[in-house]
Amino acid sequence: MRIITTINEMQTFSKKTLRSGKTIGFVPTMGYLHEGHMSLVEEALKQNDCVIMSIFVNPLQFGPNEDFDRYPRDLKRDEELAKQAGVDILFYPNVKEMYPKERTTRLTVQERVDTLCGESRPGHFDGVATVVMKLLQIVLPDRAYFGMKDAQQVAVIKGLVEDFNVPVEIVPCPIIREEDGLAKSSRNVYLTPTEREEAIQLSRSLDAAANAIERGETNPVRIKELIISYLNQTSGVIDYVEVLSYPALEAIDVMKENIIVAVAVQFTAARLIDNKVTTRSEIAIGV
Ligand code: AMP
Repeated sequence: MRIITTINEMQTFSKKTLRSGKTIGFVPTMGYLHEGHMSLVEEALKQNDCVIMSIFVNPLQFGPNEDFDRYPRDLKRDEELAKQAGVDILFYPNVKEMYPKERTTRLTVQERVDTLCGESRPGHFDGVATVVMKLLQIVLPDRAYFGMKDAQQVAVIKGLVEDFNVPVEIVPCPIIREEDGLAKSSRNVYLTPTEREEAIQLSRSLDAAANAIERGETNPVRIKELIISYLNQTSGVIDYVEVLSYPALEAIDVMKENIIVAVAVQFTAARLIDNKVTTRSEIAIGV
């Protein structure tokens, strides 16, 4: 595995790889790798000749009072994990390399950001869209892999590449969980032991919601109440509980389309998110 830290070298490598007829799969991350990230690599390895992973904690997507400085980082460990997983290139630029000067153009995401994490983290998705757009121009992948753990991000990025005709296929990948159901996340290390136990209520609440929907519950308000009853068993503060259409992320009156049930809970030093996307056919089974 080779580590590349400059944009110039990364682009040169990618152009050469593409010219030689090979395909590139890209896995963008913020590092502190876990099995969730690795599942994206596995998928990328199946579908491409060359797999490039980036590790970049993007300051633009963090708000002033968020955890940019505290975000867990461990390059040596990540390097080992990426190598073992079969990553060909680790792209690891620093902030100065990615943002050397005041930008002359800004990306602003217009749709799908007035709810969920977009609502609680103003400007977050503008930062995500900016860095993803830059990374796609630098890495030049045929396919880019994103986890449904960040389902709103997947919806926003699909919109971004459509809007700007970026020639890349966005491949959404399923959420990888701990044995007890907690979605894997780099931020889980910041849970206290008690909070770690309580955190299983996030996935439990979503399972309960999915079961209720399968049994024929069509009222989003009742689904939200059910979820809240689980989340209230934690010491965390509920940031949001939403039942929306997916990928449009619009409010729905009754359950009749593809929907996302999504939650965010703020614990002492970690804000956790989780979701479940249910397709119409799955709902129809229960109706
Ligand atoms: P991050 O490093 O947290 O920015 O995540 C990088 C990529 O890994 C994003 O596309 C995430 O959605 C994805 N990811 C993070 N956690 C998981 C998980 N538990 N399962 C699947 N994908 C994940």
